[in-house]
Amino acid sequence: MDKNILIEDFSQFNQIALIIEKNFYEEGKFEVLFSYEKRPSIKDFRTNEKIRNEYFDNIIHILKDEYPFTVSSRYQRILEIKKSPNVVGIINLNIDGILTLNNSQNVIDLEGNINWVYCSTCGMDKSMESVVKNQDDITCISCRSNILKPSMPFKGQDIAQWDLRDSWMLLNKCDNLTILVADQISPMTYSFIEIVRKRNKEIYIVDQSGEKYENMDSNMMNLNFINYSLDNFLDIMLESLNNKII
Ligand SMILES: [Zn+2]
Repeated sequence: MDKNILIEDFSQFNQIALIIEKNFYEEGKFEVLFSYEKRPSIKDFRTNEKIRNEYFDNIIHILKDEYPFTVSSRYQRILEIKKSPNVVGIINLNIDGILTLNNSQNVIDLEGNINWVYCSTCGMDKSMESVVKNQDDITCISCRSNILKPSMPFKGQDIAQWDLRDSWMLLNKCDNLTILVADQISPMTYSFIEIVRKRNKEIYIVDQSGEKYENMDSNMMNLNFINYSLDNFLDIMLESLNNKII
């Protein structure tokens, strides 16, 4: 697709929703380190102090030299895009939490966020950075009876219902769904595509891998495949959004 056509296309949308697929940040560094398979079951985490301590020791080991997290140039582009009044929301499937560090408005960290630990009883939360750097006690200081847990689903847990509900609301109001694919489209995203397809809204899939999606009909109305690199596409999107502001 020609760049100028794409800029013009994007300038007609006022309610753009973005999905950022996994492994968008530094080739999925944190997705690998904190993969679902490496998480304990919620039952073990709650009942077994040894498993819990091992888990936190490992987190501290992994993260101790990472702070402050570097905002990649790709994320800087997203943070710019997020400011546009024509972008209604971003569903982020990455768990680094960088996009919500300073301002969580308009961003749903649907798969969780490793930057926070929280108490499931009273809701008290604390930054992971403080836990890692100060080796804080992981017992909740507010209710004293519960253990703080990283804000991402462990085995035996589902994605937070309020985040899912917010995602559905976003998909039900957008006039454009743009999906940024670093290496593959996840099952969750396929179900979101269905929601937007049924509403006959435009869907753009930006995939630099040139992957063919055999279970998706590329002739399908409203579905557009773009094979620019993610960075190039984000520049084009920014140009289009900036044109609008002027
Ligand atoms: Zn508590």
